[in-house]
Amino acid sequence: MPTAKDAVERTVVDGVDVEVRRSARRRRTVSAYRHEGRLVVLVPARMSRAEEGRWLRTMVQRVSASEQRRSRTDDDLHRRALELSREFLSGTAVPASVRWVSTMTTRWGSCTPGDRSIRLSDTLRSMPGWVVDYVLLHELAHLLEPGHGPAFWARLQGYPRLERARGYLQGVSAASGLAIGDD
Ligand SMILES: [Zn+2]
Repeated sequence: MPTAKDAVERTVVDGVDVEVRRSARRRRTVSAYRHEGRLVVLVPARMSRAEEGRWLRTMVQRVSASEQRRSRTDDDLHRRALELSREFLSGTAVPASVRWVSTMTTRWGSCTPGDRSIRLSDTLRSMPGWVVDYVLLHELAHLLEPGHGPAFWARLQGYPRLERARGYLQGVSAASGLAIGDD
């Protein structure tokens, strides 16, 4: 709850209802969370109005992007997989089903070539789109190559953020203390 020192103001940023809470105790950081349909953004009171305006737009964009990712359905995921297959694998990998699963705790994704099914861990939903794309592409490539030999990695070479995405996932694994693989 805001204290007497906090100033609260309601506004609309890019179509999103925003409640700005200016806090005298807050020094530099800006944070945001959803509350009763509004986006509550906490900002330092000493921040200039111009800077605050930029931050409000940034936070609205960030939260909207992350909510969009979370609301992706299995159908969205399947469509994306077909797009990636066309773009990077000449359309040769054609999955029969692609879906999110919440039961996977030690792997980001998995693939069963027998029935051409691909599953992605729910934990990926909060990650950037290019990381999710990498895991999808990785599993798609397994429809064509089972192991992680040179022939497998050669198929992924066209993906521009390959090493960045692998590094991102390794970082998350290390931070969580779990040995999560990209099988
Ligand atoms: Zn793999």
